[in-house]
Amino acid sequence: MRKLVSAGEILVEIMAERIGQSFLEPGPLLGPYPSGAPAIFIGQAAALGQPAGLIGAVGDDDFGRLNIERLRALGADVSAIAVHKGHATGTAFVTYRADASRHFVFNIRNSASGLIETDGAATNLLASADHVHVMGSSLFSDRAIAVALSAIETVKAKGGTVSFDPNIRREIMQASGMRAALDHVLARADIFLPSGEELFLFSSAKDEKSAVDELLARGLSCIVLKKGAAGAVYHDRNGAVASSGFAVDEVDPTGAGDCFGAAFVSFWLRGAAPAEALRIANACGALAVTRKGPMEGIFPLEAVEAFIATGNTQ
Ligand code: ADP
Repeated sequence: MRKLVSAGEILVEIMAERIGQSFLEPGPLLGPYPSGAPAIFIGQAAALGQPAGLIGAVGDDDFGRLNIERLRALGADVSAIAVHKGHATGTAFVTYRADASRHFVFNIRNSASGLIETDGAATNLLASADHVHVMGSSLFSDRAIAVALSAIETVKAKGGTVSFDPNIRREIMQASGMRAALDHVLARADIFLPSGEELFLFSSAKDEKSAVDELLARGLSCIVLKKGAAGAVYHDRNGAVASSGFAVDEVDPTGAGDCFGAAFVSFWLRGAAPAEALRIANACGALAVTRKGPMEGIFPLEAVEAFIATGNTQ
């Protein structure tokens, strides 16, 4: 089976317990939960049985150990996660507003995650990789951008493929080269997985159809538009395939897009038809929102298939 690699931030997430809770005053918190968009993605891909590994860095602390142990338990290759003494693992504090939007306090660039590099272990992992997945949030510093771009070049040079999820988190995207890096990654991507308005960051078109047509004409193999509870729509040059979301009670949306993307890309790599890849991806996205914590809703393939067999679509 083809091996998937991602590179980027590894964090713990600590969550305000109550909706509308402010971080301007003390309040009850939940966590730490293992997190970081590329870590969630690689964890979900591994849980589905796809060979998958992550390039990143944690501190020599319990937050780092929590992440490495969770990824290992899910079956991921953790050989290229560096452990740095004297640096703390990255953190994300999140609170949910009454309008369902999220507010984050991140410490990524100045945490161990900021020390990400293409060291010997990362080079070895890339030597065995067939596909690279890039999260826009992983382009958080010039150093992180260099790692992502070199992973793309290494894998493309041997005929591999690339997927890209913009995963825009404005709180962390201050690297001077970020905008150029986003465009560079898109230009090399085979699969593009935007959600909501992210599609329009890369096109001057005003409507979805024109934007999709414009981006496909630039060379993408396919575009998968994530549409929250409604599911997702796949586009390629032959047309579109829509797939309804599964009906679940959402308790925490963080991680849904990462789990969805991991499932879609894993099944695309296996040669599944778009409708099949979308069904598994919608199921993984739906399961992700049923648990508090971004990786707590990751399930193995058998459990995902059992959910599909009994689940109702919207
Ligand atoms: P992102 O997390 O990247 O913003 P979405 O919110 O669109 O992306 O979620 C990704 C996918 O997760 C959706 O396409 C859908 O399959 C699933 N999903 C998200 N929210 C729900 C929900 N409330 N109910 C069912 N499925 C959901």
